[in-house]
Amino acid sequence: MGQQPGGLLTTTSIVENFPGFPDGVDGYELMTRMQKQAERFGAKTSFGVVESVDFSRRPFTLVVDGEKVNAQSIIIATGASHKHLGVPGEHELETKGTTYCATCDGALPVFRNQPLVVIGGGDSACEEALYLTRFGSEIFLIHRRDQLRASKIMVERTLAHPKIKPVWDSVVTEVLDVKQDKVTGVKLKQLKTGAETFLPCAGVFIAIGHVPNTKIFSGKITTDENGFIVPQQGTMTNVPGVFVAGDCADHVYRQAVTAAGAGCAAAIDAERFLAAANS
Ligand code: NAP
Repeated sequence: MGQQPGGLLTTTSIVENFPGFPDGVDGYELMTRMQKQAERFGAKTSFGVVESVDFSRRPFTLVVDGEKVNAQSIIIATGASHKHLGVPGEHELETKGTTYCATCDGALPVFRNQPLVVIGGGDSACEEALYLTRFGSEIFLIHRRDQLRASKIMVERTLAHPKIKPVWDSVVTEVLDVKQDKVTGVKLKQLKTGAETFLPCAGVFIAIGHVPNTKIFSGKITTDENGFIVPQQGTMTNVPGVFVAGDCADHVYRQAVTAAGAGCAAAIDAERFLAAANS
């Protein structure tokens, strides 16, 4: 497991579409239950960051927190991380008002009863905006188009909320104010008119999608141009014995349920690979 055991799902509030939970399920609870269930069947969990991999021969070698670990088969399920905007002020003001996780940071005193900005138009942005209505005075949802790409239920809930104010066809071009060492607002550009404005706010929550966590496999495992691992046969990668599951290989569905399904398929593929290798 990496730096965030349980992955991004542990920072999500309610997962609405995982089968078997008609009222939705808290992301952290879901992941904790999955771990317990796997352990009941003998899985051993250990926390550590994989620093490098050698897939050139079996057993494969991983360096985990400085220590070598050998494995006959590996399932890569490294998930994805938050995408960054790349505008001035964003990086400098990270943890000083700029954040990528409302459930982690939204309740901080600095955001209470203050105007807040959420950037993005997908399920994550809607979820962040809805969550922040508990704390902020108004939530400005900045989207570069005039239509959200989130699921219908999320769009309806978001646009119906009296505290959420959508700002369409607009992008944030700068997060201010680096000199004051805290977020005081954002510079906005209206894409249709080109007009530039300043919107005061105490927090900027960026929810514009994800990048796959596959850097350490670069040059060793086949990926597409965006870094997503490309399975060759079922869940097997170009290296026989190395399998892949979840968001590090999926830029289309990216749901907890599809990742769990792929994990199940990868486990079956790995088991069959090991059985064939040992026969
Ligand atoms: P997403 O669906 O890829 O949406 C990213 C949003 O950010 C899009 O609206 C996109 O605009 C915008 N965007 C991307 N790059 C941008 C940039 N540089 N500047 C400004 N805006 C930018 O990502 P997501 O919302 O994180 O969702 C990912 C997947 O997880 C989805 O399949 C979603 O259904 C799932 N998810 C589910 C739940 C849940 O069930 N509770 C919660 C969160 C996410 P455009 O629309 O113009 O492309």
